Amino acid sequence: MEVVLQNLTKKFPGRGRKNKEEVVAVDRFNFRIPDGSLIGLLGPSGCGKSTTLHLISGLLGPTDGRIFFGEDDVTELPPENRGIGLVFQNYALYPHLTVKQNILFPLENLKGKDKLSKQEMLEKALETARLVQIDGLMDRKPGELSGGQQQRVAIARALVKRPRVLLLDEPLSNLDARLRLQTREEIRRIQQETGITTIFVTHDQEEAMSISDLIVVMKDGVVQQTGKPQEVYDNPANLFVAKFLGNPQINVFHGEIKGGRLYIGEDAVLDIGDGSDDKEVYVGIRPEGFVLKADGPLFCDLRGVEVMGRDISVVSTNKASLASTVRSIISAENMSDIGGTTVGFAVRPHKVFLFDKETEERIFFKTGAAKCEMGEARE
Ligand code: ADP
Ligand code: MG
Repeated sequence: MEVVLQNLTKKFPGRGRKNKEEVVAVDRFNFRIPDGSLIGLLGPSGCGKSTTLHLISGLLGPTDGRIFFGEDDVTELPPENRGIGLVFQNYALYPHLTVKQNILFPLENLKGKDKLSKQEMLEKALETARLVQIDGLMDRKPGELSGGQQQRVAIARALVKRPRVLLLDEPLSNLDARLRLQTREEIRRIQQETGITTIFVTHDQEEAMSISDLIVVMKDGVVQQTGKPQEVYDNPANLFVAKFLGNPQINVFHGEIKGGRLYIGEDAVLDIGDGSDDKEVYVGIRPEGFVLKADGPLFCDLRGVEVMGRDISVVSTNKASLASTVRSIISAENMSDIGGTTVGFAVRPHKVFLFDKETEERIFFKTGAAKCEMGEARE
């Protein structure tokens, strides 16, 4: 089921004496979610992810804009008539009911032509339990399950009516690291097996990048960038997106364009051709964008080396860096090249991004003949 958000907006009135100002939780969100895809809706806490999901589910009504499921305008439809499945962070299972009863629950409330026989209901519940691999736990109560198992039950309950759209709001946040990894792979598998259009909300960039067909990065209610995870990572539209995606975080420096060269402090780190006006910029360099090179052009003060196995993380400082340390990821084979108090780097041009100091929007530049490719930037 294709889902289209058209100018979707939600404003909340300001509450309390101190904050009278209304909150624009979602600001003119336009997006077309392709049928059968998994969308990662990503951004820091408070950026409007849950509100967006609640608007799509119908639990909240928009202040402005429209929502379409395929050809249907569902904007005015109550949640129960939209054909959605919802999963929240805290499972929200009925504690006094067994797993089987929890999964059956949505089916027992079907009315009229949708009403199912007892036998049909049981078959559907079992089929869905098998899909999420909890069919061996049908007679247990939620209290007798691990967090991961409880979340599978919640997913089964959301899927048992075969929703047109599956909405997941931070479904992995209550799970420990190992289960998070496992369950996110499970969600991807289930989504691909069922082909249900799914919107997955998370504040965890790695989670969103790893399983989504497309990601949507939000900040303060405003969509910053949409695209395939790798494309957004490789071509961030602004400083916020560049910093939000990637672990370790992108390194940001105060820099300057002067006579076609890019400077970090006194070091001329890149030739960027004559087309660029002289000005101060922010320079973002991905940790994997550094190459060890004793004669520079970029020099940093070495602080230490963290062993990661296949790679090492070189920790250094540079006066022009906005963060207290600069992190570069280098192949462990090159470890013997590091020593002394200074470390020299060259940079990989396609891992370097420039941003306007005022707007923090991306500034595109030429390296050699090839112009860096434009990403799908904000409209
Ligand atoms: P997220 O899920 O990304 O953390 P939310 O969608 O929950 O963010 O919230 C977005 C913004 O809207 C926040 O500033 C939040 O305080 C505000 N907000 C959410 N729900 C309400 C509400 N019912 N009343 C007033 N403000 C709200
Ligand atoms: Mg939320």
